[in-house]
Amino acid sequence: MRKRIVVKFGGTSLGSGERVRLAAKSVRREHEKGTQVIVTVSAMGHTTDELVAVAKVVSGGKISPHEMDDIMAMGERTSARVFAVALRSLGVKAKAVDPSSEEWPIITDSEFSRAKVDQKETAKRIKKYLLPMVERGIVPVICGFLGKDLKGNITTLGRGGSDITAFILGKFLKASEVIIVTDVEGVMTADVNEVRGAELLDSITATELRELGRFGAKVMHPRAMNYKIPEVDAKVIHFKHGDLSAKGTRITGGIVEGETTGIKLHDRPIGMITVVGEDMQQTPGILVKTIKPLSEKDVNILGVSIGPRSFSIYVWQDDLRKALELVHMKVKRDEVMKSVTSEKDLAMIVVESEKFIETPGMIATLTAPIAKAKINIVEILSSRASISFFVDWENRKRAFMLLKKRMEEVG
Ligand code: ASP
Ligand code: MG
Repeated sequence: MRKRIVVKFGGTSLGSGERVRLAAKSVRREHEKGTQVIVTVSAMGHTTDELVAVAKVVSGGKISPHEMDDIMAMGERTSARVFAVALRSLGVKAKAVDPSSEEWPIITDSEFSRAKVDQKETAKRIKKYLLPMVERGIVPVICGFLGKDLKGNITTLGRGGSDITAFILGKFLKASEVIIVTDVEGVMTADVNEVRGAELLDSITATELRELGRFGAKVMHPRAMNYKIPEVDAKVIHFKHGDLSAKGTRITGGIVEGETTGIKLHDRPIGMITVVGEDMQQTPGILVKTIKPLSEKDVNILGVSIGPRSFSIYVWQDDLRKALELVHMKVKRDEVMKSVTSEKDLAMIVVESEKFIETPGMIATLTAPIAKAKINIVEILSSRASISFFVDWENRKRAFMLLKKRMEEVG
């Protein structure tokens, strides 16, 4: 079988006519080797920001999400045409694929500005329209970031969403590789604009990269990783090389369906150790001092929560005695930490959903049935897309069932 790759060019990599030409040449080189190439593009440079700014001014801030999507879409609609021209001028058969065309593949719901992809319909259209094009030796240039609902309206997938387009195409075209061409060498150990001496990673897993994105890293749209399947290789490379074989950072593994929302009840009882002291939050080094002996004695820490006058450490109950003694030795010799207490027979239920990131009131929604059943929640730890509930061991199964039902209801 011939090699098939999906290449996404980000805004900066298309920031000028010269850059578009450099990008197109890198596509031609692959195409000449007999590789089937599918291109998806962002808007050139900062076009989207500019379009948004203008739209806000002219509408006096009163623009509907539908109208905004229509205007924002012009960035990608233009760059797909520009890129196709660049390819054709280099002798490569290319076709811009636009939401207005019959062959448009990405179908979504009608949630303007944050549309969800209809995977079934999209997969069907990719097979029906894109695949034959690719097999005839044409390079399709697909507007990234955009979708179309079943009524024919243009939608967008959320800012930075052209990454999502790339991985959807990769998944449903069964590509050998998805290449994200951007303005950094790859995924780094920290944001180069904020931290000095950041280093390039050779590889990162899809799940790790999604988590990084959820917590603010700009290198990849987190939702794109939901479409990264293990069978499709992927990497992030810098545009300046003008070379699709640049090394960059590999994205390994993938996210199997169902992993984006989930619920898990840990089947081992958990113990909680709490240290109390009035001035603890104002005193540096307290937490490290207390936790270090635990790590030296191989006690695994499942979670930490910090309050104004106390902090709690969660460990497997088997380790509780040992951990308590170790913590106590520190507390006894410390002026700020006054006393330590512990609780046992707790259970941990972890729920995960992307909805938690953007939906207000999720904790209230999830906990309402538990409150109604008069089950006490000992503690809640939340971390962007995941929430951990601690309940008494004897209530774990009921709490689990109630949470599971609620998770299904909220989708
Ligand atoms: N052009 C869109 C944006 O700026 C989508 C993208 O670049 O991925 O958000
Ligand atoms: Mg981006």
